[in-house]
Amino acid sequence: MVRIIAVANQKGGVGKTTTSINLAASLAAARRRVLLIDLDPQGNATMGSGADKYDLEHSACDVLMKRTTAADTIMKMEAVGYSLMPANSDLTVAEVNLMTALRREYRLQEALAGVQEDYDFIIIDCPPALNMLTVNALVAAHGVIIPMQCEYYALEGLSALVQTIDSIRESVNHELQIHGLLRTMFDPRNNLSTEVSEQLTQHFGERVYRTVIPRNIRLAEAPSHGLPVILYDKSSRGALAYLALAGEILRREGRATTPENV
Ligand code: ADP
Ligand code: MG
Repeated sequence: MVRIIAVANQKGGVGKTTTSINLAASLAAARRRVLLIDLDPQGNATMGSGADKYDLEHSACDVLMKRTTAADTIMKMEAVGYSLMPANSDLTVAEVNLMTALRREYRLQEALAGVQEDYDFIIIDCPPALNMLTVNALVAAHGVIIPMQCEYYALEGLSALVQTIDSIRESVNHELQIHGLLRTMFDPRNNLSTEVSEQLTQHFGERVYRTVIPRNIRLAEAPSHGLPVILYDKSSRGALAYLALAGEILRREGRATTPENV
């Protein structure tokens, strides 16, 4: 059974795209069949996976506008080990046009129905907004990964995101869960980071991943080479952290499907 995971946080620069790319690559390295969907008009997940956002035959925009199928849009990215539904600034047009479309929040879910059984994991990189693109991702998903930087304002936006997730669960997608909160760009020498991190664990308990992603320059360098960090510098702290996150997620998923829990 496929697991569809949206990586969401309406704040920009918290590590959504870095997490999407590197989790996709780490799950692929663990021999899972992975599709990464770029749902951000910035196209950073597309470029970071080695595709050229300025030269796409089809993109996520066409899929949401029903001009093409998911199958015709997905690119097999042999070098990185996962498949990619790419995006570029055209997605902004889709976002606007969807506002008046029928069943506008189901477009991604409906498009994935034809391809999802080809994958073990589908990871969706969301834009930095609680807009119709993010709503499409949350309607299609089983779980949400919320990356966050442990800084003073980090908790502020969190309640709006949690409320959005709750209302989508109550209305259209009863399966939707917060899969986990991920501490990114972590610096243990920073007292505030440690403090915010503790607040987070107090409030969200088990839902905070044990794995912490450290601030690591290799993670910032890898996208300009169109590579996930495990292919750019596999012994870097960033690479080890994302491999550990993939391991933690696979263990959680394994526990969720053991007989006593079904
Ligand atoms: P978002 O998708 O949430 O906007 P990004 O993943 O694009 O965030 O990250 C924002 C910036 O921070 C990017 O330049 C990225 O390379 C860098 N970055 C992300 N995670 C790390 C990290 N753990 N260590 C160092 N730099 C990071
Ligand atoms: Mg991003």
